[in-house]
Amino acid sequence: MHKDKHVDGKKLISELESLLDEIHRYSDTINQYVITSTSDLQGNITSVSQAFCKISGYEEHELIGQNHSLLRHPDMPSELYQDLWKTIQSGETWEGEVKNKKKNGDAYWVNVHIDPIIDESDEITGYLAVRQDITDHKYIESLTVTDELTGAHNRRYYNQVLQPEIDRAKRDGRYLCFLMMDADNFKKYNDTYGHPAGDEVLKTIVSSTKSVFKRAGDYVFRLGGEEFAVLFRAMDQEQAFLVSEKCRQAIFDCNIEHSGNPPFQRLTLSMGLMVLEPKQSYIIEEIYKYADEALYKAKQNGRNRVEVHNTDEDIELF
Ligand code: GH3
Ligand code: MG
Ligand code: MG
Repeated sequence: MHKDKHVDGKKLISELESLLDEIHRYSDTINQYVITSTSDLQGNITSVSQAFCKISGYEEHELIGQNHSLLRHPDMPSELYQDLWKTIQSGETWEGEVKNKKKNGDAYWVNVHIDPIIDESDEITGYLAVRQDITDHKYIESLTVTDELTGAHNRRYYNQVLQPEIDRAKRDGRYLCFLMMDADNFKKYNDTYGHPAGDEVLKTIVSSTKSVFKRAGDYVFRLGGEEFAVLFRAMDQEQAFLVSEKCRQAIFDCNIEHSGNPPFQRLTLSMGLMVLEPKQSYIIEEIYKYADEALYKAKQNGRNRVEVHNTDEDIELF
């Protein structure tokens, strides 16, 4: 009887040891392959897995004590982080796709799942984040929405983002602006300088436009041929016009010779601007139509200019 008890104790210890081994093996695997971190209430990193270090390019000691914002990519809108903090501070789980910045500046994408860590007295003491690397998936996804020649977003992406952006601007009470742009006398450019030179110009148009519209929520699209569009937010119609003018001027200042584009003799763009009032509702097709009409007016009025669609005129029409 006494002896049996002793044997049972030994058996129990060995079972516990093998269980502990299993837990260690399991946590080693997690450490190696799962991108996890914990933070305090301010987002200061308190622990990281090896997988986290590997993907971010940092050593563990470089991360501990640093704020998670160290990994923030400038492309991510600040509203995303506001939403994230609001959610986890209220004790809920936040999940979303986030673009992060490695130590060497390169980007990587993760699907993040953040849970509050709650103690016995129901207080939040910190946060636990688990991430999956979705960089490859994001890259392939981006190819399907990118114009190959210029690197601008393509028309498919325009169709995808317009409605959500309208909804977002409405929620935020901001003016959403839709700028349509078309290269002036571009057929003549190709005829004079050749199609490959024309292609180079299309790339320059996109890079110049992006140099003006470079905020996180700005979108530059190539809608087709030599037609482009920009979706951006502004404080009011005047500010929207001024930034569109800046874009027109930036392309003018590239000073690309274009003998078939009198009287400018250089590459110019005509633009039609449509500013959406946050209080009003819009049908997507209308936005395109009105911006296109403004663009047509810019062509009629001599090209190399920005015309603004006048909302008051529509009201008079009805
Ligand atoms: P307007 O000032 O009225 O806009 O005149 P335009 O000549 O620009 O207008 P039109 O629509 O008649 O011609 C557009 C030209 O754009 C025709 C085509 O040769 C050129 N184009 C369209 N796509 C491409 C492209 O991918 N590469 C090049 N190089 N040219 C293109
Ligand atoms: Mg044209
Ligand atoms: Mg055209």
